[in-house]
Amino acid sequence: MQIHFQGGFGEKGRLSVCVEGDGTTVMLDAGIKVGAPDADYHPQLALPADEIDAVVITHAHEDHVGALCWLAAQGFSGPIYMTAETLAETPMTLAQYARPADLAAHPLSSLDIQLVEIGQRFEIGKLSIDTGHSGHVAGGMWIAVTGTAGRVMHCGDVVPNSDVFPMTPLPGCDVLLLDASYGADPVSSKDRAVAIAAWIADHSDGALLPTPLSGRSLELIAIQPGPFAIAADMAAPLLAQIDSITGLDPAMFGKLSDRVRSARNWQDTDDFPNMPLLVHDGMGSAGPAATAIPLALARNHPMLFTGHLPAGSPGAMAHADGRADWIRMPTHPTLDENVAMGQSTNVPQVFGHSCPPEGMADLARHIPNLDPTVVIGQTHVLKRKDASCES
Ligand SMILES: [Zn+2]
Repeated sequence: MQIHFQGGFGEKGRLSVCVEGDGTTVMLDAGIKVGAPDADYHPQLALPADEIDAVVITHAHEDHVGALCWLAAQGFSGPIYMTAETLAETPMTLAQYARPADLAAHPLSSLDIQLVEIGQRFEIGKLSIDTGHSGHVAGGMWIAVTGTAGRVMHCGDVVPNSDVFPMTPLPGCDVLLLDASYGADPVSSKDRAVAIAAWIADHSDGALLPTPLSGRSLELIAIQPGPFAIAADMAAPLLAQIDSITGLDPAMFGKLSDRVRSARNWQDTDDFPNMPLLVHDGMGSAGPAATAIPLALARNHPMLFTGHLPAGSPGAMAHADGRADWIRMPTHPTLDENVAMGQSTNVPQVFGHSCPPEGMADLARHIPNLDPTVVIGQTHVLKRKDASCES
């Protein structure tokens, strides 16, 4: 079995791997890299697109799904597996991040989408696909691909200990592709959440909180210390996300639903409200945030960013200029969580995605089987275990 690293290894963005085994080739995720030059915006395919049998998508964030129309333009015409929640969010992501020519020629409606129920095994050719809840967004999943040589476990983006999104424990595997987005960041999500809630309480009379529509927005809403506002187009998708979270604690369900319903709705033609305001996306590249961030800069309105800021994005520039604060709201594993996943799966070979080389080297000091050197364009070969050696 071969694992081709097509994007998101040695870098953050455009996550994609191809697993090739038993005569079948399955591509896992098809992301884009925000802010990258044209040549680095899409994954580097390891083989011609029309030789890929199927694609499986973990969730609808741009670094996992943004390249779907481009992939079709390269000649891929097979089935694309995703959950109903991911399918519901993908049109907005593609509208914001797909190349316009690819989106026009290969809209989502023209693609062969196959819906996945998380937890139900399915087959693609000779390979078996298992999925579990990722804990990262509503309808997000991890993907395990099993062939005769063994099992490859693709985390996508996961959060093992979210208060909002429960995660299914990972199965045992032979190769683990960890979500290494935070490198070896040792600060727990609880401590970060306390720091963010304190910042918001200090700016209760008005502040801008850019956040991606899915995932982190609900995590931020869960910790709001007082009244807050949201961009008007967020309410319906947030309520739909809350409804679709499997295993959500009933008390948390009530709290989140009440808070979204009672949040003040903000239109981008309105003045800023005298309370914290959540707008999407999280970096100012698209959505109401693209309008609100320049306005906040012009008015010296306080801003707090809480996630990844790609180089050159409005959020990155505002933060670099000292015009905005930044505190990470963990929506990926922190150090202890990644170490625990490396141990619990008892896996012989670990790679990490969505992390630049320095952070990966730090993480490798804590996870003995993590190879921090892998970069896109490389292939890992998983050899079939020799039956005669097994006891
Ligand atoms: Zn994500």
